Amino acid sequence: MQNTATPTHCPYCALQCGMNLTPTPDGTVEVSERADFPVNRGALCGKGRTAPAVLASNVRLTSPLVRSGGELVPASWDEALDRIAAGLRRTRAEHGPDAVGVFGGGGLTNEKAYTLGKFARVVLGTSQIDYNGRFCMSSAAAAGIKAFGLDRGLPFPLEDIPKTGCVILVGSNLAETMPPSLRFFNELRENGGTLIVIDPRRTKTAEQADLHLAPRPGTDLALALGLLHLVISEGRVDAEYVQERTVGWEDARAAAMAHWPEYVERITGVSVPQLRETVRLFCEPESAMVLTARGPEQQSKGTDTVGAWINLCLATGRAGRPLSGYGCLTGQGNGQGGREHGQKADQLPGYRKLDDPAARQHVAEVWGVDPESLPGPGRSAYELLDALGTDITSLLLMASNPVVSAPRAAHIEERIRSLDFLAVCDVVLSETAALADVVLPVTQWAEETGTTTNLEGRVLLRRRAITPPEGIRSDLEVLHELAARLGVEKGFPTDPEEVFEELRRASAGGPADYSGITYRRLVEEDGVFWPCPGAAEAVERPAAGDTTATAHPGTPRLFLDRFATPDGRARFVAVSHRAVAEEPDDEYPVLLTTGRVVAQYQSGAQTRRVAELNAAAPGPFVELHPRLAARLGAAEGDPVAVVSRRGRAVAPARITNAIRPDTVFMPFHWPGEGRANTLTNPALDPTSRMPEFKACAVRLEAVRG
Ligand code: SF4
Repeated sequence: MQNTATPTHCPYCALQCGMNLTPTPDGTVEVSERADFPVNRGALCGKGRTAPAVLASNVRLTSPLVRSGGELVPASWDEALDRIAAGLRRTRAEHGPDAVGVFGGGGLTNEKAYTLGKFARVVLGTSQIDYNGRFCMSSAAAAGIKAFGLDRGLPFPLEDIPKTGCVILVGSNLAETMPPSLRFFNELRENGGTLIVIDPRRTKTAEQADLHLAPRPGTDLALALGLLHLVISEGRVDAEYVQERTVGWEDARAAAMAHWPEYVERITGVSVPQLRETVRLFCEPESAMVLTARGPEQQSKGTDTVGAWINLCLATGRAGRPLSGYGCLTGQGNGQGGREHGQKADQLPGYRKLDDPAARQHVAEVWGVDPESLPGPGRSAYELLDALGTDITSLLLMASNPVVSAPRAAHIEERIRSLDFLAVCDVVLSETAALADVVLPVTQWAEETGTTTNLEGRVLLRRRAITPPEGIRSDLEVLHELAARLGVEKGFPTDPEEVFEELRRASAGGPADYSGITYRRLVEEDGVFWPCPGAAEAVERPAAGDTTATAHPGTPRLFLDRFATPDGRARFVAVSHRAVAEEPDDEYPVLLTTGRVVAQYQSGAQTRRVAELNAAAPGPFVELHPRLAARLGAAEGDPVAVVSRRGRAVAPARITNAIRPDTVFMPFHWPGEGRANTLTNPALDPTSRMPEFKACAVRLEAVRG
């Protein structure tokens, strides 16, 4: 392997920061600044800087493991793969293909997500595949498709943010989740624009804002309706835009008018003057944006909530216009691409719908199978996990750790333990992998090439910088070997570029069209925004300087001429406030909301193994207001038990005025006694099937002695 720096991207969040990797004598890599990548211009957070630590052999898996006498013991690849094939085959034979489940992750590259979806449907014939991205952005995706006919996290590049007039950031603590992105918002304010942050906590992001609104958890829908009410009553609707570019205004208008500001104040706790000030700041500039993240999305009414914020954009003419629009800040590294290429329960590659006959025909032709043989839509992530041990008796799991990250986690852990057979592919022995019958050690970012799609819809090439250690294989090799053992010799290449070439053909003509993108273009252009249609067989961007270039340039900005609906108009949705699935009562009088801290990532499976990150964020905590702490008799650092209808978690108190007195917060990165997801409510959004991570009723108990 060469000793020069390889330009690539971070393995963690959806910002996909650019970085350079240089091999080191100890077999890992050194991270250095890559200032030419426009998203982060060289800046990295602590997670990105320390990512090479997870390559070290003392923290990762270096051999397949099989369960023997109750213990996981090292085994050869052949033995491990044979065991998985036998387990999956046995389940299919005894209970049918839908008794085999497949669970993927938003950290998988596009090539892996595509191959996993194809493997489930072509090799296993199961409809039971979904992935952890369902827990991330599915409500925003569902709302975006309803309103605009297309879901792409941000319909504009991040570089537009400093040039707009106002941004309302709803439920995003990006100062901790993706710190380099804060630069765009700082530049916005330097340019005279306004940042409004909506969050029940005064987070590090809220501290940067011109205006911070702190609604009760789970009331973002009512808040958006109250703002729209004021937009209407103050005569700030862009009537010409509404007339020309939208459908459904009258019903949405009527719904908003039923939400008087005083009523909204009672529901949310945000005062009428604050509502009025928000409307003024949002409506006065020429352009403005609303960006949502997990706060409004991880609710049992997440789709309607995001829909209400989109309504606000549409009524004020702030969508599909330069420097304006609605966008979702996707969380996981390949959260965007991971939902586009077939590992979702209801979708085929290219973001096609699985129940669309034309989509089935197209993809089946690319795969060389009968469209009738493709299974239909399956269960969503939580429903799939909840069916383990009953309807689904074997599970193949990649790049996910639901024992820590799923809602009602103790129940899900019990379901996983009740499986007849569990196979896990991972880099480390996560809490879920530790329960498996077979664990396969797989390559990670610096050791493999593949594409991801960042939160802007920018398709990027992650490049291999070092050779993986002996004994480790890629997920693509695993799926190739398993397909062969299950009787499918062809169609599962191990070369990522070969997979991408097939993905291009499968996505051609679909909503997320990658057909004009090639690895060569990704190297030369440092990323291409989809949709990028092209000749799916062999489009290559002409050499630099060739003015006859005809390849599609990609689409950084969507909807400027028309929305992706059949008539080109955006759809208002008529939505009304409804309470969280579990309101506080006498027994459980406080609301719990969950989230992240800067030094940990998702279930923490990787970042908890990095000494520097662990030192910065060694464990969970319960953030609570001094009034709640006083009532409990708890001092800073005292253990506090948080109890919901689903279980009990204990963590040290962190007492702060930065949270509402009726709310407590826990980060969800840790297993064990302080596992926040032991408490969370799996009440599902009826459209997106998103669980209600962001609000459930709890009580607090002091832990003595
Ligand atoms: Fe990596 Fe996200 Fe940190 Fe950037 S912000 S270095 S992509 S974890």
